[in-house]
Amino acid sequence: MPTPYSALSHLDCARCGARHDADQVQGTCSCGSPLLARYDLRLVADLVSPRDIAGRPADLWRYHELLPVRQAGHVVSLGEGMTPLLPMPKAGQALGVPDLLMKDEGMLPTGTFKARGAAVGVSRAAELGVAAIAMPTNGNAGAAWSAYAARAGMASLIAMPVGAPPVTRAECAMAGAELHLVDGSIADAGQLVAKVLQQRPGYQNVATLKEPYRIEGKKTMGLEIAEQLGWRMPGVIVYPAGGGVGIIGIYKALRELLELGWVAGDLPRLVAVQPAGCAPVVKAFEAGATETEPWPDPKTVAFGLTVPKPLGDFLILDALYATGGTAVSVTDEELLAEQRAVVRLEGTLICPEGAACFAAIRQLRESGWLSPAEEVVVLNTGTGLIYPETMPAQVFEPSAI
Ligand SMILES: [Zn+2]
Repeated sequence: MPTPYSALSHLDCARCGARHDADQVQGTCSCGSPLLARYDLRLVADLVSPRDIAGRPADLWRYHELLPVRQAGHVVSLGEGMTPLLPMPKAGQALGVPDLLMKDEGMLPTGTFKARGAAVGVSRAAELGVAAIAMPTNGNAGAAWSAYAARAGMASLIAMPVGAPPVTRAECAMAGAELHLVDGSIADAGQLVAKVLQQRPGYQNVATLKEPYRIEGKKTMGLEIAEQLGWRMPGVIVYPAGGGVGIIGIYKALRELLELGWVAGDLPRLVAVQPAGCAPVVKAFEAGATETEPWPDPKTVAFGLTVPKPLGDFLILDALYATGGTAVSVTDEELLAEQRAVVRLEGTLICPEGAACFAAIRQLRESGWLSPAEEVVVLNTGTGLIYPETMPAQVFEPSAI
């Protein structure tokens, strides 16, 4: 028998525990909950070690035993993964946590962390015979999925709010997506997609957590952080949560690594950051709740975070409670001030969503939740280049010289 490329065994419902076949196209469980991919971790341990992984190409497919694609030939890649984990000494000093590191996801294809979920999601969908995908998006996921769909020769249908970053519209259209604009939020875009799909057999709905494999791509952020730290975990990970797939994925990754014995010790305390104009997870966390209430009239410059009710809210909250983490909201003024400060101090043009994490760290130091000795990893989920309207340029007139 040939050596398996993936140790994928089956899918589990995240809520009711029902087991599902991983080798058929799947959406959500009949109970409505997302499905999570499970692996034969004993097989993984037999197949590969951290030492083997060190010798592989520097992309996210280096962890292929822990990813769902069964055959190497089915991988659809634009060179995604292994983004830098940058020391941020000056920003860290300014915030009171000198041991600050930033995982810079702005370096990925299409400029955001969405490339990870799209690469793995599209690859697995193509492997299972899916010929067309459809999704609602706040912009960046649509840009990523339409690019990978083009690479795979797959049709794509994307619906996004009119308020989404304009360049993401252009990215989808340029990649050949059928683009729909919605005067509303991502929830309204989701309703449009569901309606259109009733007339489109053969299209798979790949909305956040409506299929099982996007999260597996996002999981690689957690795998990379552990490997880049020498197969250990940091004290705290700070993450900007919209749909929250990244934080759920990082939590899943670190638990798989613990079970494999590739890392040891306590899981990092996970922090979900949301803008004050759309903070359903923060509100639920503060109430000790296990689910969110839909946020009325979401509004923020950190557009990727305008998700009024994440489908995976119970999984995000579970990850926060289980790790002794927390949830923090920050105002647009605070996050825009940090965006300017970080690029001036470190030269890294981060996105507003990433900037929200820096504003959250400032709050958590002031409240004492974070100690100055803590090793903190912050996720910058995309390049600032996608949001030129958040970056006013000061220009000097020749006459002023
Ligand atoms: Zn279920």
